[in-house]
Amino acid sequence: MLSEKDVLDKLSVVRDPDLGRDVVSLEYVKNIRVCAPIVSCDIELSNPASMAKDKIRDDARKALLELPEINEANVEIKWRVTASPEGVKRALPGGQVAPAPQKPEGVKNLIAVASGKGGVGKSTVAANLAVALRQTGASVGLCDADVYGPSQGTMFGLTARPEADSEQRLIPLEAHGVKIMSMGLLTTKETPVIWRGPMATRLIQQFMGGVLWGELDYLIIDLPPGTGDVQLTLTQSVPLTGAVIVTTPQDVARTIAEKGLRMFRPVQVPVLGIIENMSYFQCSHCHEKTHIFSQGGGESISSELGVPFLGGIPLDPEVVLAGDQGEPIVARNPDAPVSAVYREIATRVAAAVARVNFDSDTADRPKEILEEDGKLKILWADGSATSFPFDFLRNRCPCALCVDEWSGKRKHLILLLPSNFRPMTVEPVGNYAIQIGWSDSHNTGIYSFRGLKEMAVELEAAQK
Ligand code: ADP
Repeated sequence: MLSEKDVLDKLSVVRDPDLGRDVVSLEYVKNIRVCAPIVSCDIELSNPASMAKDKIRDDARKALLELPEINEANVEIKWRVTASPEGVKRALPGGQVAPAPQKPEGVKNLIAVASGKGGVGKSTVAANLAVALRQTGASVGLCDADVYGPSQGTMFGLTARPEADSEQRLIPLEAHGVKIMSMGLLTTKETPVIWRGPMATRLIQQFMGGVLWGELDYLIIDLPPGTGDVQLTLTQSVPLTGAVIVTTPQDVARTIAEKGLRMFRPVQVPVLGIIENMSYFQCSHCHEKTHIFSQGGGESISSELGVPFLGGIPLDPEVVLAGDQGEPIVARNPDAPVSAVYREIATRVAAAVARVNFDSDTADRPKEILEEDGKLKILWADGSATSFPFDFLRNRCPCALCVDEWSGKRKHLILLLPSNFRPMTVEPVGNYAIQIGWSDSHNTGIYSFRGLKEMAVELEAAQK
């Protein structure tokens, strides 16, 4: 007689490439029904935009058909977006404690779209990202926090004014299934607003706490360019799930993007990745790609700083036209090649959110990390300690350069490292991981606390 455990054992070989783990340890397998010769189950992914849905279904069916007495396996792929954790209290200078930042009621994830300077296409990316996520079936909102140059109203062709409920909470407008709030919707040409820092700060607080967003899987926040009051207020008043940085191939934008990226590190906001806009021009007749500016800037800054590269978007006149006519290109022409690029980026963003949420959902947190006797020592929150040999950690680097995301296999053989091999930098990433820069110049590995705890168990077993 087959049991649920037999089914789970079989499914433990099926991997979700977005999270680099098997579907059983991710607790994705639901609703198992065994009635020989038929077995059925649901697999509930945390990324609605996953590009691996068909592969996961096929791999699962194949694995289940290996069970004795079974000749029919039905696997249904479902999804449920996970929520990022609430914020934590912060100690302020002088002994005071700042309250824990809170997400707007009903909102699962807040994703900031940032850029180092204006005009790189950040608002266009935010609009198309919102629509692309919505097209997967997820519930999505778009908050235009670019208070100095709000453009989302125009981009979505909205002209109505948002109304307020009896408690003065604003009701967002809706276009292409996306809930939208923008300062541009609250002012008119006749009543322009001259902004000063404190007003911008208050407005952002109102956009987070005083808007009836409802139940949302993702709230995309279009930030003003650069680093200023709005970014600071936002990172202090809500727990951002992560930030996406938009840049262009020119060097100057690249340097500024780097500055934007460094802004999020100290405030514990994970950088989900970099998008390079106006990356190349694709001829609509012969489809040849021309890189007008230097090629690979976004990718190189990604690898230098150890953050994922989410994709390059072509320079496409249709994008401008669509934006000017009040309909993001992904909605206006879903079949355009550039729309496919936006959708691919949305998939990677949703995957990054799923990964951050999974990694954040652990009680196994380090209290202290130090170098001691040629080892990296972690003192865990539960009082235990692990001393990791450096080569043990380096050979388990989880980055995409070291591990194939589809198979989970290590791309290189065990590295034999010199005796003076050591970590040069250990930096926090969000509140769920550390990034280690090694003396062999490899610095792209983000070691989640959850992953480190598993490595601690492996090390302990090996030492017995
Ligand atoms: P930002 O928010 O960074 O200031 P916008 O999104 O407002 O930038 O875009 C600036 C201009 O560039 C707009 O006219 C927009 O239509 C155009 N644009 C954005 N992305 C592209 C693209 N991929 N191809 C062509 N034009 C683009």
